[in-house]
Amino acid sequence: MIEAPPATVARLVVYVRVLDEFAVRDVDVTSSDAIAEAAGVSAFQVRKDLSYVGPLGQRGKGYDVHKLRTRLRIAIGLDEDFPVVIVGMGRLGQALADYPNLGGLGARVVAAFDADPAKIGARVGAWTVRAPSEMADVTRAHGVRTAFLTVPGSRAASAARAIARAGIPGILNFSSSVIEAPPGTVVQSVDFLTGLGLLAYEVRLRAARGSTSGGPSRHDDAA
Ligand code: NAD
Repeated sequence: MIEAPPATVARLVVYVRVLDEFAVRDVDVTSSDAIAEAAGVSAFQVRKDLSYVGPLGQRGKGYDVHKLRTRLRIAIGLDEDFPVVIVGMGRLGQALADYPNLGGLGARVVAAFDADPAKIGARVGAWTVRAPSEMADVTRAHGVRTAFLTVPGSRAASAARAIARAGIPGILNFSSSVIEAPPGTVVQSVDFLTGLGLLAYEVRLRAARGSTSGGPSRHDDAA
């Protein structure tokens, strides 16, 4: 695996998804321009990011889509399936549990937990909801390294501590709260409401400036 700045790794994940999409469309050879176009970044940024992965084919000949996809997956540790659990089987937890495309990155839901006694033992889609007290056993049995945290913001910190106690080192925090990573864990937060707020601001700002003609934002930061 490579060591690279988080922003670079985030873009490499996007390139893997772009290459998956190319493969589905039977595209065998691609270029940094094509990847850049699909990923919404510049070709310079793509080449810079790919340089972390090492030499990748001959200059001017393009990239073999399948080989590049494999190299990127290995570079960022997405070459193996990884089991995940969902903590909080409300609206969002249930939607994620049934989401079919997690497998694209190798994530595989193995269990779903909720603290509500009315939900424990109930069937939700393919899942029988379990009590948080069972999390450590499930973690050991499946080698779980990632939990999706989908509880109300007010419960997020205590649920994160329970996840840490169960021995799960990675928490993808979907809740509305910013949480401190419990010892021994890494927390990544996903927040579509912040994205929505930012978008609303940008749209209003453009309208106020009398210009809606600009292209989509590009995310070529220098990291
Ligand atoms: P919800 O109320 O429908 O579900 C929350 C579930 O968490 C409930 O079933 C509840 O019993 C359970 N729960 C509470 N405490 C728990 C604990 N300690 N352990 C296990 N389960 C526990 O809420 P929702 O609409 O699914 O939203 C969940 C969270 O996701 C909220 O914090 C919401 O703000 C956030 N959210 C985030 C995004 C995003 O883009 N990240 C989008 C929508 C909602």
